[in-house]
Amino acid sequence: RARQLGLAANLMKPVKQSDLLDAIQRALGVSGLGPEEPAAPRPAAPAGRRGLRVLLAEDNAANQKLASRVLERLGHTCVVGDNGWEALAALEGQPFDLVLMDVQMPEMDGFEATAVLRAREQGTGRHLPVIAMTAHALKGDRERCLAAGMDGYVAKPIQS
Ligand code: MN
Repeated sequence: RARQLGLAANLMKPVKQSDLLDAIQRALGVSGLGPEEPAAPRPAAPAGRRGLRVLLAEDNAANQKLASRVLERLGHTCVVGDNGWEALAALEGQPFDLVLMDVQMPEMDGFEATAVLRAREQGTGRHLPVIAMTAHALKGDRERCLAAGMDGYVAKPIQS
């Protein structure tokens, strides 16, 4: 009956520890689960998605850590800039697939940095996606971000 149902194994209770281990190993198709077995390689990114190169422009250290951990856990590469100037400098030096742009930063804020980026893109046919991050989830913020040349908007603290 167990075979008919497609069950991987059928153990009699009380279950002996060694029988349980044998059954698990057979079901998983492995011959040993000892520490000498090489660990299965962790997939770098979810299947069918390549890892993106993300520029994170964010001045707050805790938010930097949170956002970069979320991105790296999803298999993406993250470069951090502390303000708009640093973000623009990073964009000149290397290619990115996406910018996560904090709105409020010292020296140069996210609106200004995005305006400079869009000005640089004029005539090139390129458009780097910029997602704004702001602590103020106010209704007008979304419109202001889009008007500034940003493509999307997330409220902080960001969620995976
Ligand atoms: Mn900020």
